[in-house]
Amino acid sequence: QAHLDRIAAVDADIHAFLHVNAGALDAAAEIDRRRAAGEQLGELAGVPLAIKDVLVTTDMPSTSGSRILEGYMSPYDATVVARSRAAGLVPLGKTNMDEFAMGSSTEHSAYGATHNPWDLDRIPGGSGGGSAAAVAAFEAPLALGSDTGGSIRQPAHVTGTVGVKPTYGAVSRYGAIALASSLDQVGPVTRTVLDAGLLHDVIGGHDPHDSTSLEEAWPSFAAAAREGARGDVLKGLKVGVIRELPDAGFQQGVAESFRAALAAMEAQGAEIVEISAPHFEYGVAAYYLILPAEASSNLAKFDSVRFGMRVDVPGGTVEDVMAATRDAGFGDEVKRRVILGTYALSAGYYDAYYGSAQKVRTLIQRDFDEAFAQVDVIATPSAPTTAFRLGEKIDDPMQMYLNDVTTIPANLAGVPGISVPSGLAAEDGLPVGIQFLAPLRQDARLYRVGAAVE
Ligand code: GLN
Repeated sequence: QAHLDRIAAVDADIHAFLHVNAGALDAAAEIDRRRAAGEQLGELAGVPLAIKDVLVTTDMPSTSGSRILEGYMSPYDATVVARSRAAGLVPLGKTNMDEFAMGSSTEHSAYGATHNPWDLDRIPGGSGGGSAAAVAAFEAPLALGSDTGGSIRQPAHVTGTVGVKPTYGAVSRYGAIALASSLDQVGPVTRTVLDAGLLHDVIGGHDPHDSTSLEEAWPSFAAAAREGARGDVLKGLKVGVIRELPDAGFQQGVAESFRAALAAMEAQGAEIVEISAPHFEYGVAAYYLILPAEASSNLAKFDSVRFGMRVDVPGGTVEDVMAATRDAGFGDEVKRRVILGTYALSAGYYDAYYGSAQKVRTLIQRDFDEAFAQVDVIATPSAPTTAFRLGEKIDDPMQMYLNDVTTIPANLAGVPGISVPSGLAAEDGLPVGIQFLAPLRQDARLYRVGAAVE
Protein backbone atom coordinates (compact mmCIF):
# COMPACT_ATOMS: atom_id res chain seq x y z
CA GLN A 1 0.00 0.00 0.00
CA ALA A 2 2.86 2.36 0.82
CA HIS A 3 4.30 1.89 -2.65
CA LEU A 4 0.91 2.36 -4.31
CA ASP A 5 0.50 5.57 -2.29
CA ARG A 6 3.92 6.75 -3.39
CA ILE A 7 3.06 6.01 -7.03
CA ALA A 8 -0.20 7.95 -6.65
CA ALA A 9 1.73 10.87 -5.15
CA VAL A 10 4.64 11.20 -7.58
CA ASP A 11 4.08 9.24 -10.76
CA ALA A 12 2.08 11.96 -12.49
CA ASP A 13 5.37 13.90 -12.56
CA ILE A 14 7.80 11.02 -13.09
CA HIS A 15 5.76 8.71 -15.36
CA ALA A 16 7.78 5.62 -14.49
CA PHE A 17 4.77 3.33 -14.86
CA LEU A 18 2.75 2.43 -17.94
CA HIS A 19 0.45 0.23 -15.90
CA VAL A 20 -0.11 -0.26 -12.16
CA ASN A 21 -1.16 -3.74 -11.06
CA ALA A 22 -4.74 -3.65 -9.77
CA GLY A 23 -4.14 -7.06 -8.20
CA ALA A 24 -1.07 -6.04 -6.19
CA LEU A 25 -2.78 -5.79 -2.79
CA ASP A 26 -4.55 -9.14 -3.27
CA ALA A 27 -1.25 -10.78 -4.19
CA ALA A 28 0.35 -9.25 -1.09
CA ALA A 29 -2.52 -10.47 1.11
CA GLU A 30 -2.05 -13.95 -0.30
CA ILE A 31 1.62 -13.87 0.78
CA ASP A 32 0.49 -12.83 4.28
CA ARG A 33 -1.91 -15.76 4.38
CA ARG A 34 0.76 -18.22 3.30
CA ARG A 35 3.17 -16.86 5.89
CA ALA A 36 0.50 -17.00 8.62
CA ALA A 37 -0.15 -20.61 7.67
CA GLY A 38 3.47 -21.35 8.52
CA GLU A 39 4.86 -21.64 5.00
CA GLN A 40 8.59 -20.97 4.73
CA LEU A 41 8.93 -18.14 2.25
CA GLY A 42 12.06 -16.63 0.73
CA GLU A 43 13.66 -13.36 1.77
CA LEU A 44 11.85 -11.37 -0.91
CA ALA A 45 8.35 -12.74 -0.28
CA GLY A 46 5.88 -9.86 -0.13
CA VAL A 47 8.29 -7.33 -1.63
CA PRO A 48 6.85 -5.31 -4.53
CA LEU A 49 8.55 -5.56 -7.91
CA ALA A 50 8.33 -3.16 -10.85
CA ILE A 51 8.63 -4.91 -14.22
CA LYS A 52 9.99 -3.38 -17.42
CA ASP A 53 7.31 -3.56 -20.09
CA VAL A 54 9.60 -5.61 -22.37
CA LEU A 55 8.78 -8.61 -20.13
CA VAL A 56 5.48 -10.31 -20.85
CA THR A 57 2.90 -10.78 -18.10
CA THR A 58 -0.46 -12.54 -18.12
CA ASP A 59 -2.28 -10.10 -15.83
CA MET A 60 -1.06 -6.78 -17.24
CA PRO A 61 -0.56 -5.51 -20.81
CA SER A 62 2.91 -5.86 -22.33
CA THR A 63 3.71 -3.21 -24.93
CA SER A 64 7.50 -2.93 -24.99
CA GLY A 65 6.86 0.79 -25.17
CA SER A 66 5.34 0.48 -28.64
CA ARG A 67 2.03 1.61 -30.11
CA ILE A 68 1.96 -1.57 -32.19
CA LEU A 69 1.48 -3.65 -29.01
CA GLU A 70 -0.95 -1.30 -27.25
CA GLY A 71 -3.12 -3.36 -24.89
CA TYR A 72 -1.42 -6.63 -25.84
CA MET A 73 -2.07 -9.41 -23.29
CA SER A 74 0.39 -12.28 -23.24
CA PRO A 75 -0.86 -15.85 -22.77
CA TYR A 76 2.18 -16.63 -20.59
CA ASP A 77 4.55 -15.00 -18.09
CA ALA A 78 8.21 -14.39 -18.88
CA THR A 79 10.32 -16.89 -16.91
CA VAL A 80 11.75 -14.10 -14.73
CA VAL A 81 8.21 -12.96 -13.91
CA ALA A 82 7.03 -16.50 -13.17
CA ARG A 83 10.03 -17.07 -10.89
CA SER A 84 9.45 -13.76 -9.12
CA ARG A 85 5.81 -14.63 -8.48
CA ALA A 86 6.79 -18.09 -7.23
CA ALA A 87 9.21 -16.48 -4.76
CA GLY A 88 6.37 -14.33 -3.42
CA LEU A 89 7.41 -11.05 -5.02
CA VAL A 90 4.38 -8.88 -5.76
CA PRO A 91 4.25 -7.37 -9.27
CA LEU A 92 3.57 -3.68 -8.77
CA GLY A 93 3.23 -2.68 -12.40
CA LYS A 94 4.91 -2.33 -15.79
CA THR A 95 7.50 0.36 -16.34
CA ASN A 96 8.08 2.74 -19.21
CA MET A 97 10.86 2.22 -21.73
CA ASP A 98 12.13 3.32 -25.11
CA GLU A 99 10.13 1.56 -27.83
CA PHE A 100 11.39 -2.03 -28.14
CA ALA A 101 14.28 -1.01 -25.85
CA MET A 102 15.89 1.20 -28.50
CA GLY A 103 17.32 4.26 -26.83
CA SER A 104 19.23 5.79 -23.94
CA SER A 105 16.69 8.26 -22.60
CA THR A 106 13.19 6.66 -22.55
CA GLU A 107 12.10 9.51 -24.83
CA HIS A 108 11.42 6.99 -27.61
CA SER A 109 8.51 5.45 -25.68
CA ALA A 110 5.23 5.66 -27.60
CA TYR A 111 3.61 6.59 -24.27
CA GLY A 112 5.58 9.71 -23.35
CA ALA A 113 8.92 10.24 -21.63
CA THR A 114 9.85 9.29 -18.08
CA HIS A 115 11.42 12.03 -15.94
CA ASN A 116 14.47 11.65 -13.73
CA PRO A 117 13.42 11.97 -10.06
CA TRP A 118 16.64 13.91 -9.31
CA ASP A 119 15.63 16.63 -11.77
CA LEU A 120 12.37 16.34 -13.64
CA ASP A 121 13.79 18.19 -16.67
CA ARG A 122 16.33 15.44 -17.22
CA ILE A 123 16.28 11.97 -18.72
CA PRO A 124 16.18 8.87 -16.48
CA GLY A 125 18.40 6.96 -18.90
CA GLY A 126 17.22 4.27 -21.25
CA SER A 127 15.91 2.12 -22.45
CA GLY A 128 14.87 1.08 -18.94
CA GLY A 129 14.31 4.59 -17.58
CA GLY A 130 10.98 3.61 -16.04
CA SER A 131 12.43 0.85 -13.87
CA ALA A 132 15.36 3.01 -12.71
CA ALA A 133 13.17 6.06 -12.02
CA ALA A 134 10.64 3.94 -10.08
CA VAL A 135 13.40 2.59 -7.85
CA ALA A 136 15.15 5.97 -7.46
CA ALA A 137 11.85 7.69 -6.56
CA PHE A 138 10.97 5.02 -3.95
CA GLU A 139 7.91 4.02 -5.98
CA ALA A 140 9.28 0.46 -6.01
CA PRO A 141 12.02 -1.18 -3.96
CA LEU A 142 13.10 -3.53 -6.75
CA ALA A 143 12.73 -3.63 -10.52
CA LEU A 144 13.52 -5.79 -13.50
CA GLY A 145 15.22 -4.44 -16.60
CA SER A 146 16.82 -5.66 -19.80
CA ASP A 147 20.25 -4.72 -21.09
CA THR A 148 21.16 -5.07 -24.76
CA GLY A 149 23.71 -2.26 -24.90
CA GLY A 150 23.44 -0.71 -21.45
CA SER A 151 19.72 -0.31 -20.75
CA ILE A 152 20.08 -1.48 -17.15
CA ARG A 153 23.47 0.04 -16.31
CA GLN A 154 23.14 3.49 -17.90
CA PRO A 155 19.74 4.25 -16.27
CA ALA A 156 21.27 3.11 -12.95
CA HIS A 157 24.17 5.53 -13.52
CA VAL A 158 21.93 8.56 -14.11
CA THR A 159 19.48 7.80 -11.28
CA GLY A 160 21.88 6.80 -8.49
CA THR A 161 20.71 3.19 -8.46
CA VAL A 162 22.35 -0.21 -8.90
CA GLY A 163 21.97 -2.11 -12.17
CA VAL A 164 23.34 -5.49 -13.18
CA LYS A 165 23.70 -7.03 -16.62
CA PRO A 166 24.35 -10.72 -15.93
CA THR A 167 26.53 -12.98 -18.07
CA TYR A 168 24.78 -13.72 -21.37
CA GLY A 169 22.70 -16.84 -20.71
CA ALA A 170 22.70 -16.46 -16.91
CA VAL A 171 19.11 -15.21 -16.77
CA SER A 172 16.35 -16.49 -19.04
CA ARG A 173 15.23 -14.38 -22.00
CA TYR A 174 12.02 -16.40 -22.38
CA GLY A 175 9.21 -13.87 -22.49
CA ALA A 176 11.52 -10.89 -22.92
CA ILE A 177 10.32 -9.31 -26.18
CA ALA A 178 13.46 -9.67 -28.28
CA LEU A 179 15.46 -6.66 -29.41
CA ALA A 180 18.78 -8.24 -30.43
CA SER A 181 18.83 -11.84 -29.31
CA SER A 182 22.61 -12.26 -29.18
CA LEU A 183 22.94 -9.21 -26.90
CA ASP A 184 19.79 -9.12 -24.71
CA GLN A 185 20.04 -9.99 -21.01
CA VAL A 186 17.49 -9.51 -18.21
CA GLY A 187 18.70 -8.26 -14.83
CA PRO A 188 17.95 -6.40 -11.59
CA VAL A 189 17.60 -2.66 -10.93
CA THR A 190 17.74 -1.83 -7.22
CA ARG A 191 18.97 0.64 -4.62
CA THR A 192 21.65 -1.62 -3.11
CA VAL A 193 23.97 -4.33 -4.40
CA LEU A 194 22.53 -6.78 -1.89
CA ASP A 195 19.01 -6.16 -3.21
CA ALA A 196 20.28 -6.87 -6.72
CA GLY A 197 21.89 -10.11 -5.54
CA LEU A 198 18.69 -11.23 -3.83
CA LEU A 199 16.66 -10.57 -6.98
CA HIS A 200 19.25 -12.18 -9.26
CA ASP A 201 19.12 -15.33 -7.08
CA VAL A 202 15.34 -15.49 -7.69
CA ILE A 203 15.30 -14.88 -11.46
CA GLY A 204 18.53 -16.56 -12.56
CA GLY A 205 19.57 -20.09 -13.48
CA HIS A 206 18.93 -22.52 -16.29
CA ASP A 207 15.66 -22.35 -18.21
CA PRO A 208 14.86 -25.01 -20.80
CA HIS A 209 12.61 -22.47 -22.58
CA ASP A 210 15.66 -20.38 -23.56
CA SER A 211 18.03 -22.19 -25.90
CA THR A 212 20.95 -19.92 -24.92
CA SER A 213 20.41 -20.39 -21.17
CA LEU A 214 23.56 -21.66 -19.44
CA GLU A 215 23.47 -24.91 -17.51
CA GLU A 216 25.55 -23.61 -14.68
CA ALA A 217 25.41 -24.13 -10.92
CA TRP A 218 25.46 -20.46 -9.90
CA PRO A 219 26.55 -19.40 -6.42
CA SER A 220 24.26 -17.17 -4.33
CA PHE A 221 24.73 -13.59 -5.44
CA ALA A 222 23.16 -12.30 -2.22
CA ALA A 223 25.83 -14.23 -0.32
CA ALA A 224 28.50 -12.68 -2.54
CA ALA A 225 27.10 -9.19 -1.84
CA ARG A 226 27.06 -9.86 1.90
CA GLU A 227 30.63 -11.09 1.73
CA GLY A 228 31.67 -7.94 -0.16
CA ALA A 229 29.99 -5.64 2.35
CA ARG A 230 31.65 -7.41 5.26
CA GLY A 231 35.07 -8.35 4.16
CA ASP A 232 38.27 -7.02 2.78
CA VAL A 233 37.60 -8.25 -0.75
CA LEU A 234 39.42 -5.28 -2.24
CA LYS A 235 42.76 -6.31 -0.75
CA GLY A 236 44.94 -7.55 -3.60
CA LEU A 237 42.12 -7.15 -6.15
CA LYS A 238 43.52 -6.21 -9.55
CA VAL A 239 41.33 -3.53 -11.14
CA GLY A 240 41.92 -2.84 -14.82
CA VAL A 241 41.55 0.68 -16.19
CA ILE A 242 41.37 0.97 -19.97
CA ARG A 243 44.12 3.13 -21.45
CA GLU A 244 42.14 3.92 -24.60
CA LEU A 245 39.11 5.31 -22.76
CA PRO A 246 40.48 8.82 -22.37
CA ASP A 247 39.29 11.21 -19.70
CA ALA A 248 38.68 13.76 -22.45
CA GLY A 249 35.44 12.16 -23.60
CA PHE A 250 33.92 12.22 -20.14
CA GLN A 251 32.17 15.03 -18.33
CA GLN A 252 34.53 16.47 -15.72
CA GLY A 253 32.44 15.42 -12.71
CA VAL A 254 32.10 11.89 -14.09
CA ALA A 255 35.87 11.57 -14.56
CA GLU A 256 36.53 13.02 -11.09
CA SER A 257 34.07 10.69 -9.41
CA PHE A 258 35.67 7.75 -11.23
CA ARG A 259 39.19 8.73 -10.11
CA ALA A 260 37.99 9.23 -6.53
CA ALA A 261 36.36 5.79 -6.52
CA LEU A 262 39.58 4.21 -7.78
CA ALA A 263 41.63 6.05 -5.15
CA ALA A 264 39.27 4.80 -2.43
CA MET A 265 39.65 1.25 -3.71
CA GLU A 266 43.41 1.62 -3.77
CA ALA A 267 43.35 2.83 -0.18
CA GLN A 268 41.64 -0.42 0.72
CA GLY A 269 44.30 -2.53 -0.93
CA ALA A 270 43.19 -2.79 -4.56
CA GLU A 271 45.82 -2.58 -7.25
CA ILE A 272 44.96 -0.35 -10.23
CA VAL A 273 46.43 -1.76 -13.43
CA GLU A 274 46.40 0.01 -16.79
CA ILE A 275 45.23 -2.33 -19.52
CA SER A 276 44.77 -2.00 -23.24
CA ALA A 277 41.50 -2.69 -25.06
CA PRO A 278 42.28 -1.21 -28.47
CA HIS A 279 39.05 -2.33 -30.14
CA PHE A 280 36.59 -0.91 -27.61
CA GLU A 281 36.45 2.31 -29.58
CA TYR A 282 34.84 0.39 -32.47
CA GLY A 283 32.21 -1.12 -30.18
CA VAL A 284 29.54 1.50 -30.86
CA ALA A 285 29.98 1.18 -34.64
CA ALA A 286 29.81 -2.63 -34.55
CA TYR A 287 26.86 -2.63 -32.16
CA TYR A 288 24.82 -0.25 -34.30
CA LEU A 289 25.12 -2.69 -37.20
CA ILE A 290 24.61 -5.95 -35.29
CA LEU A 291 21.72 -4.63 -33.23
CA PRO A 292 19.66 -3.21 -36.13
CA ALA A 293 20.33 -6.39 -38.14
CA GLU A 294 18.97 -8.61 -35.39
CA ALA A 295 16.19 -6.18 -34.49
CA SER A 296 14.95 -5.93 -38.09
CA SER A 297 14.59 -9.70 -38.08
CA ASN A 298 13.00 -9.91 -34.61
CA LEU A 299 10.51 -7.15 -35.40
CA ALA A 300 9.36 -8.83 -38.61
CA LYS A 301 6.83 -10.74 -36.51
CA PHE A 302 4.83 -7.55 -35.98
CA ASP A 303 3.08 -8.09 -39.25
CA SER A 304 -0.50 -7.06 -38.32
CA VAL A 305 -1.55 -10.73 -38.33
CA ARG A 306 -0.10 -12.39 -35.26
CA PHE A 307 0.31 -9.66 -32.62
CA GLY A 308 -1.10 -6.31 -31.74
CA MET A 309 -2.61 -3.63 -33.90
CA ARG A 310 -3.90 -3.83 -37.46
CA VAL A 311 -4.64 -0.90 -39.73
CA ASP A 312 -7.27 -1.85 -42.28
CA VAL A 313 -6.72 -0.76 -45.87
CA PRO A 314 -10.04 -1.13 -47.69
CA GLY A 315 -9.42 -2.97 -50.96
CA GLY A 316 -5.71 -3.29 -50.10
CA THR A 317 -3.49 -6.35 -50.27
CA VAL A 318 -1.96 -8.16 -47.30
CA GLU A 319 1.24 -6.22 -47.97
CA ASP A 320 -0.68 -2.95 -47.91
CA VAL A 321 -2.13 -3.82 -44.50
CA MET A 322 1.28 -4.82 -43.14
CA ALA A 323 2.90 -1.64 -44.41
CA ALA A 324 0.13 0.60 -43.07
CA THR A 325 0.22 -1.15 -39.70
CA ARG A 326 3.98 -0.93 -39.33
CA ASP A 327 3.93 2.67 -40.50
CA ALA A 328 1.37 3.63 -37.85
CA GLY A 329 2.58 1.27 -35.13
CA PHE A 330 6.32 1.89 -35.11
CA GLY A 331 8.01 5.10 -34.03
CA ASP A 332 10.84 6.88 -35.85
CA GLU A 333 13.72 5.24 -33.99
CA VAL A 334 12.34 1.75 -34.64
CA LYS A 335 11.89 2.53 -38.33
CA ARG A 336 15.41 3.96 -38.50
CA ARG A 337 16.87 0.74 -37.09
CA VAL A 338 14.72 -1.60 -39.20
CA ILE A 339 15.89 0.24 -42.31
CA LEU A 340 19.53 0.21 -41.14
CA GLY A 341 19.33 -3.48 -40.27
CA THR A 342 17.73 -4.68 -43.47
CA TYR A 343 20.24 -2.60 -45.43
CA ALA A 344 23.22 -4.04 -43.51
CA LEU A 345 21.93 -7.57 -44.13
CA SER A 346 21.09 -7.14 -47.80
CA ALA A 347 22.92 -9.08 -50.50
CA GLY A 348 25.97 -7.17 -51.64
CA TYR A 349 26.34 -5.23 -48.37
CA TYR A 350 26.26 -8.14 -45.92
CA ASP A 351 30.02 -8.77 -45.88
CA ALA A 352 30.98 -5.11 -45.80
CA TYR A 353 28.68 -4.18 -42.91
CA TYR A 354 27.28 -7.08 -40.90
CA GLY A 355 30.29 -9.33 -41.59
CA SER A 356 32.79 -6.62 -40.59
CA ALA A 357 30.83 -5.82 -37.45
CA GLN A 358 30.96 -9.48 -36.42
CA LYS A 359 34.74 -9.45 -36.87
CA VAL A 360 34.99 -6.39 -34.63
CA ARG A 361 32.87 -8.24 -32.10
CA THR A 362 35.44 -11.06 -32.05
CA LEU A 363 38.28 -8.55 -31.63
CA ILE A 364 36.50 -7.00 -28.64
CA GLN A 365 36.02 -10.45 -27.12
CA ARG A 366 39.78 -11.01 -27.52
CA ASP A 367 40.50 -7.65 -25.85
CA PHE A 368 38.49 -8.88 -22.86
CA ASP A 369 40.32 -12.22 -22.82
CA GLU A 370 43.68 -10.50 -22.78
CA ALA A 371 42.59 -7.99 -20.16
CA PHE A 372 41.18 -10.63 -17.84
CA ALA A 373 44.45 -12.56 -18.05
CA GLN A 374 45.92 -9.58 -16.15
CA VAL A 375 43.13 -8.24 -13.92
CA ASP A 376 40.18 -9.49 -11.84
CA VAL A 377 37.74 -6.79 -12.91
CA ILE A 378 37.72 -3.86 -15.32
CA ALA A 379 36.43 -0.48 -14.09
CA THR A 380 35.01 2.34 -16.23
CA PRO A 381 32.66 5.26 -15.64
CA SER A 382 29.22 3.77 -16.39
CA ALA A 383 28.45 6.45 -19.00
CA PRO A 384 30.16 9.59 -20.34
CA THR A 385 27.86 12.19 -18.76
CA THR A 386 25.33 12.65 -16.00
CA ALA A 387 21.62 12.80 -16.92
CA PHE A 388 21.21 15.12 -19.89
CA ARG A 389 18.18 17.31 -20.44
CA LEU A 390 15.02 15.91 -21.99
CA GLY A 391 15.02 16.83 -25.66
CA GLU A 392 18.77 17.52 -25.77
CA LYS A 393 19.73 14.55 -27.98
CA ILE A 394 16.40 13.43 -29.36
CA ASP A 395 17.05 14.87 -32.84
CA ASP A 396 20.63 13.61 -33.03
CA PRO A 397 20.77 9.79 -33.10
CA MET A 398 24.58 9.77 -33.29
CA GLN A 399 24.87 11.70 -30.01
CA MET A 400 22.37 9.33 -28.43
CA TYR A 401 24.31 6.27 -29.67
CA LEU A 402 27.69 7.59 -28.46
CA ASN A 403 26.28 7.65 -24.96
CA ASP A 404 26.61 3.83 -24.94
CA VAL A 405 30.39 3.75 -25.46
CA THR A 406 31.24 2.23 -22.06
CA THR A 407 28.34 -0.20 -21.74
CA ILE A 408 28.23 -1.79 -25.21
CA PRO A 409 31.47 -3.85 -25.08
CA ALA A 410 30.05 -6.09 -22.32
CA ASN A 411 27.05 -7.01 -24.47
CA LEU A 412 29.21 -7.71 -27.52
CA ALA A 413 31.38 -10.06 -25.44
CA GLY A 414 28.60 -11.47 -23.22
CA VAL A 415 30.46 -10.63 -20.01
CA PRO A 416 28.66 -9.41 -16.89
CA GLY A 417 28.61 -5.79 -15.74
CA ILE A 418 27.36 -3.79 -12.77
CA SER A 419 26.83 -0.06 -12.25
CA VAL A 420 27.13 1.11 -8.65
CA PRO A 421 26.60 4.73 -7.48
CA SER A 422 29.92 6.54 -6.99
CA GLY A 423 28.71 9.93 -5.79
CA LEU A 424 27.48 13.13 -7.36
CA ALA A 425 29.16 15.21 -10.06
CA ALA A 426 30.50 18.46 -8.57
CA GLU A 427 29.28 20.69 -11.40
CA ASP A 428 25.61 19.62 -11.48
CA GLY A 429 24.99 17.57 -8.32
CA LEU A 430 23.67 14.66 -10.35
CA PRO A 431 24.43 10.96 -9.72
CA VAL A 432 27.38 9.16 -11.27
CA GLY A 433 27.97 5.42 -11.44
CA ILE A 434 31.09 3.29 -11.66
CA GLN A 435 30.90 0.20 -13.84
CA PHE A 436 32.71 -3.04 -13.11
CA LEU A 437 33.06 -5.80 -15.69
CA ALA A 438 34.10 -9.38 -14.93
CA PRO A 439 34.93 -12.46 -17.02
CA LEU A 440 32.10 -14.65 -18.33
CA ARG A 441 30.26 -16.47 -15.51
CA GLN A 442 32.05 -14.50 -12.79
CA ASP A 443 28.94 -12.51 -11.86
CA ALA A 444 29.51 -13.22 -8.16
CA ARG A 445 32.75 -11.23 -8.32
CA LEU A 446 30.76 -8.16 -9.38
CA TYR A 447 28.45 -8.47 -6.38
CA ARG A 448 31.43 -8.81 -4.02
CA VAL A 449 33.26 -5.82 -5.48
CA GLY A 450 30.10 -3.75 -5.94
CA ALA A 451 29.05 -4.25 -2.30
CA ALA A 452 32.57 -3.41 -1.14
CA VAL A 453 32.57 -0.01 -2.88
CA GLU A 454 28.93 1.15 -2.53
N1 GLN B 1 21.03 2.60 -25.77
C1 GLN B 1 21.19 1.32 -26.36
C2 GLN B 1 20.38 1.26 -27.63
O1 GLN B 1 19.74 2.21 -27.91
C3 GLN B 1 20.83 0.28 -25.36
C4 GLN B 1 19.62 -0.50 -25.61
C5 GLN B 1 19.36 -1.58 -24.62
O2 GLN B 1 20.25 -1.96 -23.84
N2 GLN B 1 18.18 -2.15 -24.69
O3 GLN B 1 20.39 0.31 -28.34
